[in-house]
Amino acid sequence: MKTIGVLGGMSAASTQHYYAELCRLTRARLGGLHSPQLLIRSLDFAEIEVLQMRGDWEAAGEVLNQEAKSLEQGGADFIILATNTMHKLADQMMAGVYIPLLHIADATASAISAAGLRRPGLMATAFTMEQDFYTDRLKQAGLTPVLPDDADRAETHRIIYEELCKDITTKESEVAYVAIAARLADAGADSLILGCTEVGMLLNEANVPVPVFDTTRIHCAAALDQAMTS
Ligand code: GLU
Repeated sequence: MKTIGVLGGMSAASTQHYYAELCRLTRARLGGLHSPQLLIRSLDFAEIEVLQMRGDWEAAGEVLNQEAKSLEQGGADFIILATNTMHKLADQMMAGVYIPLLHIADATASAISAAGLRRPGLMATAFTMEQDFYTDRLKQAGLTPVLPDDADRAETHRIIYEELCKDITTKESEVAYVAIAARLADAGADSLILGCTEVGMLLNEANVPVPVFDTTRIHCAAALDQAMTS
């Protein structure tokens, strides 16, 4: 099995889910005592968040680029970046890196298309919903993303940074997220992308009226597919 380089800590809450999911899926596929070959680099999200809020994407990209090079030097065969938002910097991150990046939006778009769906709602950070680096990638894959309105985008973003990234889940925020997901379905979404790697802490198939595409789970499954191909 190939070694998966996981660049995470953005946030640490979601990287724990990546590790658990990668282990769970490997056991399910291979049985016995099998576990995945991983190199996990978990950054201090407080330092990254300062750069995000300042809009200093250049500096954040430089950090990611150094870390991608370290994963390559450490023996990773390919990289997964365990956050949707920081894929904004995918090109800068992979400059001078010779192993491939398994892009989270590509894996997600493939899963949606394979299910015959076309109009996914998107719940994510404001960066991911409002800038074009992510939605354009979905459009290039033939999808038409449906975004929450201004107030719902602000609330989705707030809950991610103030709660989920700190490993806090509350009933109140679950209710808010369920309502936002329902409004997206009412607005014509035929599916829902949990487009932030923490959103699966509150939403899943059981509380959303349309098929759910959890980027954390999809990314892990795609990574194992890639790790198991020779
Ligand atoms: N993990 C999140 C995402 O998937 C948000 C934290 C970050 O900005 O990296 O976008």
